[in-house]
Amino acid sequence: MKTVEDQLQHRSSVKEELKWDLSAIFNTENEYSQALTDLLKDVEGFVNQYDGKLNRSSKVIEAIKDYEKISAVASHISQYKFLPVTVDITDSQAQEESRYVSNVLAGVNAKLSFFHSQMEDLDESVLDKVSEEAPEFKPFIRLVKTAKKNRLHPKAEETLAMLNPVLDSFSDIFEQARLADADFGSFEVNGTVYPLSFVLYEETYMYHEDKAVRRAAYDQFNKVLGQYKNSIATAYYNQVQKEKTLATMRGFDSVFDYLLADQEVSQELYNRQIDTIMSDFAPVMRKYITHLKGVNGLDKMTYADLKIDLDPEYTASVSIEEFKGMLDDALSVLGTDYVNLINRAFPERWIDFAQNKGKESGAFCSPTYGKQPFILVNWSGQLADAYTLFHELGHAGQGLLSNEKNTLTGSDPSLYLIEAPSTFNELLLTDHLRNKAEDPRMERNVISLMISQTYFHNFVTHLLEAAYQREVYRLIDAGKSFDAAKLGELKRRVLEDFWGDSVELEEGAELTWMRQSHYYMGLYPYTYSAGLTIATQAFLNIRTGEMDATGWVDFLAMGGQKVPVDAAKAAGVDITTDKPLQDTIQYLDESVDRMIELTQLIK
Ligand SMILES: [Zn+2]
Repeated sequence: MKTVEDQLQHRSSVKEELKWDLSAIFNTENEYSQALTDLLKDVEGFVNQYDGKLNRSSKVIEAIKDYEKISAVASHISQYKFLPVTVDITDSQAQEESRYVSNVLAGVNAKLSFFHSQMEDLDESVLDKVSEEAPEFKPFIRLVKTAKKNRLHPKAEETLAMLNPVLDSFSDIFEQARLADADFGSFEVNGTVYPLSFVLYEETYMYHEDKAVRRAAYDQFNKVLGQYKNSIATAYYNQVQKEKTLATMRGFDSVFDYLLADQEVSQELYNRQIDTIMSDFAPVMRKYITHLKGVNGLDKMTYADLKIDLDPEYTASVSIEEFKGMLDDALSVLGTDYVNLINRAFPERWIDFAQNKGKESGAFCSPTYGKQPFILVNWSGQLADAYTLFHELGHAGQGLLSNEKNTLTGSDPSLYLIEAPSTFNELLLTDHLRNKAEDPRMERNVISLMISQTYFHNFVTHLLEAAYQREVYRLIDAGKSFDAAKLGELKRRVLEDFWGDSVELEEGAELTWMRQSHYYMGLYPYTYSAGLTIATQAFLNIRTGEMDATGWVDFLAMGGQKVPVDAAKAAGVDITTDKPLQDTIQYLDESVDRMIELTQLIK
């Protein structure tokens, strides 16, 4: 039996131009080894020079500068050994080297943990003086002040840093169960046998055109997944219990406040995203999904059918050369400097396009301070891939612009803002394609892609994860526990609330809590919708001429200089009110209505 995996080439046969260029980090293996040796020496030097000696502001400023140099090199070393594993998990040597580096760096972090503790021990007056004398470190000092309120004894902080790989192990257990241990076998439809795996389900069968294949794959997928529900529920319980314990140790009454502290947003902003989308956006999505059912002539819309294409026969393929043209046209509104910056991706080879055995599915962008960004995609030449790459290049552009304008400790924006630059670029792609559309069918296809690629994923799938996650943390905050059955019940209720009568939630839907690594990343899932809300409002403002596009580029370059509320304001978006969210929902409502109108024209 031939599986899709079998048809893929080995990593060793992938053409050079389809791979990213890691030599941009270290030119040779020797250069890497030397950097590692030097790093360990520099860490010792750092400890001798600053441990117990942080007092005057001038000394502190010197220490932050040295700390940034060390952190930059540590991140280069980690990228250099971690990225090869993502493109070929079967490469056991790469695995071994990555684990080695991860252990060495855990040791480095433990040694450096005194720096954070002692920074947090400093008087407010010294911290203020540092901000005054070296304004480039203002964002870092702001974070130190926040952490100061919740710090533990330095020895406890050091112990936690040492234990970090162990405390982070629950997600690894989850990944091993779903990707390595679970044998999804195969399933049969009308005499044809189809091989199944976790990735095959999520990347292929979930979108399959044939309803019988799609639904049979769904049944088999959930049957196998369900066999692991108790192990995975246990890993997950320990993950959230660990978070609650850390929250309590650090003096937080609520695990929500603990998890949101880093993001620098209030529970009000967090809850608003979830509540408003659950109540006001649900009717728009029900209208969309009912239309999808009608166009596809389905007897009923089941949970297994949710991700089908509106117009499966209408496919548009995109070559890498055509993609470059799209990039130039769609992004031109942001100015030539921005377009030129993004175009460096090709000669500098930021992107790993290849599809090969053992490569991680999906896509990501890994910005590297002081070096070029690295982007992983599995490029198959479909328009959907163009969306993915626009998204990742949005992250890359933000990283580069922010790194140019900020020192390392001030370069990262809050997680709340992370998905704004990426989804904004997706909106520019949609707008460009919509303007170019020559007939109703093409226009409908573009709107459908915008809904299914940009919003379904970020505004619905991840938000429903967030709504479920909020119920789990509420239980934990109330001192209660849960098992697999309880998690299934919570997930099912969220899905029922959102989809109402428009979708039949057949058995297996409740196991969706077993399908995402996001659940092991704190309050991450809701930030997709937060970023996309800011992106949509800014996009609408630029489109109506209310805002100049340079405002958006300035926002990208801002890094961590401002807390989310103020950063969004600089992009012309006021997230202290629900207006951006309401405007976004209205824009989508109008888009779905237009889609339905176009269907009438096509008939
Ligand atoms: Zn993203």
